[in-house]
Amino acid sequence: MNCKIALIPGDGIGPEIVGEAKKILDKVCSVYGHTFTYEEVLLGGASIDVHGVPLTEEAIETAKGADAVLMGSIGGDAKTSPWYQLEPSKRPEAGLLAIRKALNLFANLRPAYLYDELKGACPLKEEVIGDGFDMIIVRELTGGLYFGERRTVEENGVRKAIDTLTYDEKEIRRIAVKAFEIAGKRRKKVTSVDKANVLDSSRLWRKVVEEVAAQYPEIELEHMLVDNCAMQLVHNPGQFDVILTENMFGDILSDEASMVTGSIGMLSSASLNETKFGLYEPSHGSAPDIAGKGIANPIATILSAAMMLRFSLDLDQEADAVEAAVQQVLKDGYRTVDIMSDGMKQIGTKEMGDRIAQYIERKD
Ligand code: NAD
Repeated sequence: MNCKIALIPGDGIGPEIVGEAKKILDKVCSVYGHTFTYEEVLLGGASIDVHGVPLTEEAIETAKGADAVLMGSIGGDAKTSPWYQLEPSKRPEAGLLAIRKALNLFANLRPAYLYDELKGACPLKEEVIGDGFDMIIVRELTGGLYFGERRTVEENGVRKAIDTLTYDEKEIRRIAVKAFEIAGKRRKKVTSVDKANVLDSSRLWRKVVEEVAAQYPEIELEHMLVDNCAMQLVHNPGQFDVILTENMFGDILSDEASMVTGSIGMLSSASLNETKFGLYEPSHGSAPDIAGKGIANPIATILSAAMMLRFSLDLDQEADAVEAAVQQVLKDGYRTVDIMSDGMKQIGTKEMGDRIAQYIERKD
């Protein structure tokens, strides 16, 4: 397969971790006989330094012309970086919001997977962890409360703030379709999370999700209220496969789900549009405190690259091979400093990438 991939190294540890992810993709290409070509895109502080703005039209066009985008992370230390002397619309984070919007990325995917080898980092009790958990949160990213009309008024000397939560059936349907498609590649269960006992938007959400579910008879659908879901995530996380939810609930639940894995350097994410196109990036930031030291954990970015293989390029076997290689390196006892524990062998960013690359092999 020939693919064009836009690479956004970004700022801080971004170039280091993207370099390792590219190393893994190169190995996948040589083992499976694919050809990936890369085009580098400047975003965030790196773009400000060169162009004076965090995102250029040219960068958007390059990203749009690719089959998928793989990103490190952007941003610097807000206290010391000159990027934060600029007005908010010119700062690194504005570039990220703008590229997500330009690419129409409405579906955010955040897996939360507990590696056996990292169980010690999980804040939950052993009896709750059980056999571990492996879920993915599919969050609607461009609608709902965060994008509704809002205003603050004063009535009779009393200040009042109004935020509106709106969803139309098209917005619900397209994210539900994504969730069911993803569940089809996994354990075939969707938990749709809403607040249908209170909110009209949730009642419509439920109806539309049920209509979509009818097209996927092989996939089990359950509904869960958001307050219950927040409890279940720390009570019995193993029950979840795909959690489908709206923007604000997803914002909160995806952070809760990542916290229960306990390892920020391991968490991948993806944002997709209506086609197979997506932007893949680690859930963590640019970690300016450790940038350039060669100690950052590249695994979240490598696992994001695996998601890219699976969801944008339909290379499931190759994605499985990358995930298996990560697991094997952890089994061998190798750890970057953020996931280090007693008796393990501490290694740096490059060695972690090398070791994972070494284990990528064909299974057929
Ligand atoms: P952060 O995630 O960058 O760092 C939090 C802590 O985790 C730090 O101690 C850091 O050293 C550590 N850490 C993060 N990733 C790591 C890795 N791969 N390996 C080892 N340790 C790791 O969050 P922050 O410090 O709040 O933000 C720093 C910058 O990142 C800010 O400018 C922020 O705006 C930006 N940010 C960008 C994104 C993005 O690009 N999508 C997301 C979040 C934050």
